[in-house]
Amino acid sequence: MSTLRFDALKKTMERTPITIVDNEKRSALFGVNVFNEQAMRQYLTGDAFTSVQDAIVNGAKIKRGVADQIAAAMKDWAMSKGVTHYTHWFQPLTGATAEKHDAFFELLNSNQGIERFDGGQLVQQEPDASSFPHGGIRNTFEARGYTAWDPSSPSFIYGTTLCIPTVFVSYTGEALDYKTPLLRALNAVDEAASDVAKYFDKNVRKVNASLGWEQEYFLVDEALVAARPDLMMTGRTLLGHTSAKGQQLDDHYFGSIPTRALEFMRDLEKECMLLGIPVKTRHNEVAPNQFELAPIYEEANLAVDHNSLVMDLMGKVAQRHHFKVLLHEKPFKGVNGSGKHNNWSLTTDTGVNLLSPGKTPMSNLQFLTFFVNTIKAIQEYEELMRSGIASASNDHRLGANEAPPAIMSVFIGAQLSKVLKELEGVTAGKLSPEEKTDLKLNVVGKIPEILLDNTDRNRTSPFAFTGNKFEFRAVGSKSNCAKPMIILNTIVAKQLKDFKVEVDKLVDKKSLKKDEAIFNVLREYIKGSKRILFDGNGYDEVWEKEAKKRKLSNNKTTPEALKIQLDKSTIDVFEKMQVMNKVELEARYEIEVEEYSKRIQIEGRVLGDVARNHIIPTAIKYQNLLIDNVKGLKDIYGTSFKKMASEQMELIEQISTHIEKINASVTQMTEERKKANALDDATKKADSYCNSVKPFFEEIRYHCDKLELLVDDELWPLAKYRELLFTR
Ligand code: ADP
Ligand code: MG
Repeated sequence: MSTLRFDALKKTMERTPITIVDNEKRSALFGVNVFNEQAMRQYLTGDAFTSVQDAIVNGAKIKRGVADQIAAAMKDWAMSKGVTHYTHWFQPLTGATAEKHDAFFELLNSNQGIERFDGGQLVQQEPDASSFPHGGIRNTFEARGYTAWDPSSPSFIYGTTLCIPTVFVSYTGEALDYKTPLLRALNAVDEAASDVAKYFDKNVRKVNASLGWEQEYFLVDEALVAARPDLMMTGRTLLGHTSAKGQQLDDHYFGSIPTRALEFMRDLEKECMLLGIPVKTRHNEVAPNQFELAPIYEEANLAVDHNSLVMDLMGKVAQRHHFKVLLHEKPFKGVNGSGKHNNWSLTTDTGVNLLSPGKTPMSNLQFLTFFVNTIKAIQEYEELMRSGIASASNDHRLGANEAPPAIMSVFIGAQLSKVLKELEGVTAGKLSPEEKTDLKLNVVGKIPEILLDNTDRNRTSPFAFTGNKFEFRAVGSKSNCAKPMIILNTIVAKQLKDFKVEVDKLVDKKSLKKDEAIFNVLREYIKGSKRILFDGNGYDEVWEKEAKKRKLSNNKTTPEALKIQLDKSTIDVFEKMQVMNKVELEARYEIEVEEYSKRIQIEGRVLGDVARNHIIPTAIKYQNLLIDNVKGLKDIYGTSFKKMASEQMELIEQISTHIEKINASVTQMTEERKKANALDDATKKADSYCNSVKPFFEEIRYHCDKLELLVDDELWPLAKYRELLFTR
């Protein structure tokens, strides 16, 4: 009998849910471990408080003397909660978070110590960064990097460590992380959107991008995962026959949450509350053992930090419940994978959501302005948007017919399509008073009403307008939201800047009224953005053909999708918006293609090992049993044994055939890996992994999965799909 698998199953069956005491109001827990405004008011002097607020709201610099005060206050606050260490907390280009803890402890002299934390330590650190991905930046320039405090994301306590969110940059100023370009992109969209919002309200000073993410994940018992080297090493099952029952009965989605999973969620939510992460929604997702967590939306930089923190937190909390959290986009073949919807909107400091229709024709014109400009930005940079969500793991969703396709398109629904159609008919140049009145009353004036009953939702659209926000649905469950957010905010910033130039030109040169000029520019944008609008079924083959006609990109694999990142148009937009320069973009491209190659390399190795060291020996063991059986029948029945042993002999042959196929494919795959590894050029290597190594995965899997169906269940070493998906 296969001991590891059956021991794991036994352990799983014997688990009892760990009951979480959760009797305090969420609002009482919220932000308790965050150095937020309330804590600052209590611990900071008035000057220091004003200085931090100024840094948060206006990005003002904090003077060294003030930084010393803030550091001392943070230390006192943290120590009052039992904290002993601090760390700069950042998001290097591995996609995960990074931390290096230092004690507050310092020596006064050889026999006396003291707790100390000063402004210098708060503001800047120099981690030994040589092992973080840098895409060549740190080789060509001085080989050092430093982390710098981001006051706009509050420090928090995790365990006994004070975590200070920071950016991570090279000494020559190039970004080595996600946060740096994200902050620059948010700054760009703030400037551009504020300028446009001023057309409608002179009092607007700042525009914040908001992000509300929805995180999908799977929970699997840790003992079962331990019985699956593929899940352990790659986060997904590289083989495994589908379970007889999967999601076909639709009995998991929004169903009653299994008790062990629910206790995990309550535990996680409590931790989130203490860390000021406003989680709100939890439910079962479509696939068995798949779940979702969503917070109330927040300012995008904070939301990105919170999502990174949550992904880390999930793993830690899951340990207490003997679960492993799978964030991979496609852990199991045959059932849904996981995504992370990124809900995005723009809000002014006067409290107006620029993507929400208002109560007056003027506020609706404002809505239409931001709405149409966003669509135009996506139409212009659709391929770049696709590249922002590209990863080896997300290819399983975008490249296959699951969740949104690899083609970018925007869904706006029938009602808003009608509004755009009417705007398209606006007269060029000056408008007659009648036309203006008609527009105000019948087109722009009617939006709020129609949106209320605009309930048609399209789950197959990668980028959908959902009433007061756009929802980017093609983001991978595992990925850092910063990547798509950097691109989206940068291209919208660029678009809004261009828009302002065009409107101002019409006002100055053609002496049009402001609203006439806006109508005129929007009309042209609508005409030019048609190819990106699509309300139909994104999974349909018909759409793929139609998209091709519309010359929309359809990059199904990561190496293909990433190429646009080196395109002149990409470098132009990022440089113009001062988000990233050519060096930074090239470095990021290099890091991403290398990561792709490494992921496929690891999968190839694991699959080869599992197939040869687990599957083939098991198949041979079973085949030997069959051979013994056939021999026994021959002993008893002599020459007439054949009739009785025919099924067994057929099985023996089938097993041999599958073993032979597996062996041959693993050998060929290994040869292809060797060839790929010998390539120096990162792009060529990724292409080679994608086109020459990866295709063997399906072939190897096919024969392993066939063997799973033939071999005695008692001998099978790997936890099966039905066990992974239905034990909880
Ligand atoms: P679903 O898409 O699952 O039907 P909702 O659309 O109601 O659910 O909300 C999903 C997410 O959208 C939540 O995380 C929520 O915080 C976020 N959200 C709601 N309004 C906005 C907004 N104006 N800007 C950004 N995110 C938002
Ligand atoms: Mg959603």
